[in-house]
Amino acid sequence: MPPISAQPAPTGTPVAPEHNGHGKILFSGDPNASYERRLVFDHVVEPKTATIREQFEAVARAVRDLLTRQWLKTTQTYDRANPKRVYYLSMEFLIGRSLTNNITNLMAEPIVQEAMKREGLDPITLAEQEPDAGLGNGGLGRLAACFLDSMATMQLPAIGYGLRYEYGIFRQEIENGSQVERPDNWLRRPDPWEIPRLCETVEARLNCSVRIHNGAPHLEPNAPRVLVGVPYDRPIVGFGGKTVNTLRLWGASAPDFFNLGEFNHGDFFGAVLDRVTAESLTRVLYPDDSTAAGRRLRFVQEYFLVACSLADILRRFKSSNSDWRALPDKVAIQLNDTHPTLTVTELMRVLLDDARLGWDEAWDLTVRTLAYTNHTLLPEALERWPVELFELVLPRHLELIFEINRRFLGAVRAKFPGDEARAERASLIEEGASRNVRMAHLAIVGTHSTNGVAAIHSELLRTRTVKDLAEMFPERFGNKTNGITPRRWLHLCNPALATLITDAIGDGWVTDLSKLRALAPLAEDPTLRAKFRRAKETAKERFTSWLQTTTGQVVNPVSIFDCQIKRIHEYKRQLLMVLHIVVLYNRLRADPTLPIPPRTFFFAGKAAPAYTLAKLIIRLINSVAAVIDSDPAVRGKLAVVFLPEYNVSLAERLIPAADVSEQISTAGFEASGTSNMKFMMNGALTVGTRDGATIEMAQEAGEDNFFLFGLTADQVASSRGWYDPHWHYAHELETRTALDLIALGHFSNGDPGVFAPIRDTLLTKGDYYMHLADLGDYTRTQEHVSALFTDPDAWAKKALLNIAHSGRFSSDRTIHEYATEIWGAGPCPVD
Ligand SMILES: *Cc1c(COP(=O)(O)O)cnc(C)c1O
Repeated sequence: MPPISAQPAPTGTPVAPEHNGHGKILFSGDPNASYERRLVFDHVVEPKTATIREQFEAVARAVRDLLTRQWLKTTQTYDRANPKRVYYLSMEFLIGRSLTNNITNLMAEPIVQEAMKREGLDPITLAEQEPDAGLGNGGLGRLAACFLDSMATMQLPAIGYGLRYEYGIFRQEIENGSQVERPDNWLRRPDPWEIPRLCETVEARLNCSVRIHNGAPHLEPNAPRVLVGVPYDRPIVGFGGKTVNTLRLWGASAPDFFNLGEFNHGDFFGAVLDRVTAESLTRVLYPDDSTAAGRRLRFVQEYFLVACSLADILRRFKSSNSDWRALPDKVAIQLNDTHPTLTVTELMRVLLDDARLGWDEAWDLTVRTLAYTNHTLLPEALERWPVELFELVLPRHLELIFEINRRFLGAVRAKFPGDEARAERASLIEEGASRNVRMAHLAIVGTHSTNGVAAIHSELLRTRTVKDLAEMFPERFGNKTNGITPRRWLHLCNPALATLITDAIGDGWVTDLSKLRALAPLAEDPTLRAKFRRAKETAKERFTSWLQTTTGQVVNPVSIFDCQIKRIHEYKRQLLMVLHIVVLYNRLRADPTLPIPPRTFFFAGKAAPAYTLAKLIIRLINSVAAVIDSDPAVRGKLAVVFLPEYNVSLAERLIPAADVSEQISTAGFEASGTSNMKFMMNGALTVGTRDGATIEMAQEAGEDNFFLFGLTADQVASSRGWYDPHWHYAHELETRTALDLIALGHFSNGDPGVFAPIRDTLLTKGDYYMHLADLGDYTRTQEHVSALFTDPDAWAKKALLNIAHSGRFSSDRTIHEYATEIWGAGPCPVD
């Protein structure tokens, strides 16, 4: 390894960790000293006059000082032991905030709290200064962040690789009920966690150059260019603070040859412009969720991630190994969805063209080193890149793809002679008016393992979506049900509940969540149930007071907190929840004395900026909220709140306060879901369809403790041919009344046609996601929810049983399965 740092040594005194004998680390030393030094020498201010932002940065740097020694030691340990390394490649890491998480995982709360007290700092206000690192769209990016936490906690020698977007997912504002996107310039102020490693830059070669034309970047053919990847490292602290792994994010730049001789006309200005254009490559995250964006710069971004990360991985490999044949024994690379699939051809290119291996050996090493995770079955989300784009940007990769395909189709024809239709379906190339490369096929053919992210999803992937490939390589297909880190999603975000659990069963659950099972018999204990209710009340009060101080909105803290928070997408069916709200609204208007427990419906989520219908759904939610708020017949019984700017921090705030978790996607469409797990772990009861990991959650908790409803995935598929939403409209009075109210302008505030597209989607266009088919069963199920809520003790028991059976959904369990079944990698403990 080259020297770790091009950075000046930290000015604070790094504190030497001391072990407390329980395998955990305590810190001695004085964070105050570090804090003060950071303020005075980094910011050059008198501590008394420091702004709150300066205080935040100084505290964060002081906390970083606490982990620096262990971070260096982790690298040294891996270099010395040379274990098999795990590399997690992902276009997204939805990290959220790091300060409180790092303090928790370092187990440094006591000393940091005391230090802050002495300095007169308010920990909550300071934590609020940190912007969310929103380098992802939703579940896929958050999964990557949870995995990093688990890998560090489990002491796996792992590195995450991603892109350092200067603008993450857009900031969502609501104006007149509609979503407005604002840029998220999260790096406007220096980020205290990132370390630029200017001495460890790598190069990525394209056959075209990126030029600005009419204000938009565009690809200019036959102008080969070198891009430079600059690593920015972030510490990933494992719980207990022993292992501190690295998340390496690449920023794009241009090579430094300001040798004007090379630009023989002395085109200084043009050379500088080239550099600025190169740097724009990692400027912004594409804000689409579940649709292949089809934007050409996104393709270049994907290649940039792959080329930089692989160069770095192979540099590391070569520094401690001399034989390419050892590659699969020392390196496991996991591809998070198809976005980094070019790793297959990039590794082949290096092994063939640079290392001069023969095809068969290069192919064997490639396949055994790489593994692929599929995240979606939605056809519009399966990546396909035009052959013509490959010709322009990566012609050598295209050559390799054609050769891989030639060999692969040979094998298909040998195994299934005479079945030309099968060969066409399985091919890496989609033929037609425009020819495309099917990235999922390349990922399956070029890796030794393909997994889905929940049992039902892996099954549908294998038997429907890529059936032909699964029949070629049955041994490659498996399942790894997703998980979430209990550190952030319980221990940190829900102190009241975490304390209750620790008081009841000890604190071993934080690193072994299966221990929560010990709560199951205790759910019979009325005092524990009473304690659970108090913990939930505490969380609800904490949330309501936050809401009131930040937005002025007042909600009833004893109402049912009924929550659906996730990206806005038709398949997730926010519209189904809206229809149920309108049904209740109509019932109450017909009979204002109807005895139902008061409910507050919370929505949060972003719509892709180009997804018109999703944006209209947001507008409908806000319109229904306003009408209900102003109608005396329902006020006090129903309230609807749309929380803008859904991000990790908002999820951490709302989920502890939730009573009901809405997981109501059309069965067969949600790959796994992870917010479903966060809610379960925090003692909310789930109203859900038999979809994604919700199926496995209900199995664990017992269906008696769940509110399952609706069509199964098989029923959705088998009724596709004859399903007709008009039948429900004609035969179900409440369905008709609700739809008419929406379509005829009751919520339209004088603009009667606005919601016509929603009615069209649900009726004339056939209701592809079958909202109307499930509305009746959904409404009945919600009546059971209301009934149970009037018996708080019975409710608490079910909630406790849910928590007790949520242990399987720790990402520690998921990572253990990846490590043993796919990566063949084990822990490499750091002293
Ligand atoms: C957990 C999480 C998600 C994933 O939610 P799903 O309901 O599983 O789609 C998306 N965004 C954020 C900010 C999250 O924390």
